[in-house]
Amino acid sequence: METRAEPQSDRRNPHQTRRRLLAAAGLTGFGALLTLTGWRTGPPRTAGPSTAAPLADGHRRPRLTQTQLAILRDGATEEPFSSPLAYEERVGHYDCARCGSTVYRAADKYDSGTGWPAFVQPADPEAIRRSPEPKLEDVSQQVTCARCGGHLGRVYDDGPPPTGRRHCINGHALVFIATDA
Ligand SMILES: [Zn+2]
Repeated sequence: METRAEPQSDRRNPHQTRRRLLAAAGLTGFGALLTLTGWRTGPPRTAGPSTAAPLADGHRRPRLTQTQLAILRDGATEEPFSSPLAYEERVGHYDCARCGSTVYRAADKYDSGTGWPAFVQPADPEAIRRSPEPKLEDVSQQVTCARCGGHLGRVYDDGPPPTGRRHCINGHALVFIATDA
């Protein structure tokens, strides 16, 4: 077999070439699989900490955490006091963590004492959609992002003036963007 000390270098080339071809084929196949998976499942799923970038342009899709996916996609509710945005008091606006649409403003935020960010009204009536909450009958309505359909929270009729509404929103469904005024 290959016992000669000095085999012709081109005797080994076919092996090396074949190995490279196999590696290239494997990578290509894996890449194609990833592409197919991406097409089928939409945005990437990750269990890592939130790296959702500020979405000033509102067009980039951020990587969402499992918590964010559970809320925005599946309608889950975060644990109270689990989001730092429950305590956020700076001037700014609150954007949908999935699509970047501005859904609430700091000027409309108040401390409801419930552990969730609360607002008396949306940033714009067209920024959100309300729908009956079947599980809670008429006590509240579900609030979703009008742009992407992501679940944000619920709205109740026990809020303060001037609207009397309490938009009880999951902080993990929001990205806070501080502004100067
Ligand atoms: Zn959205």
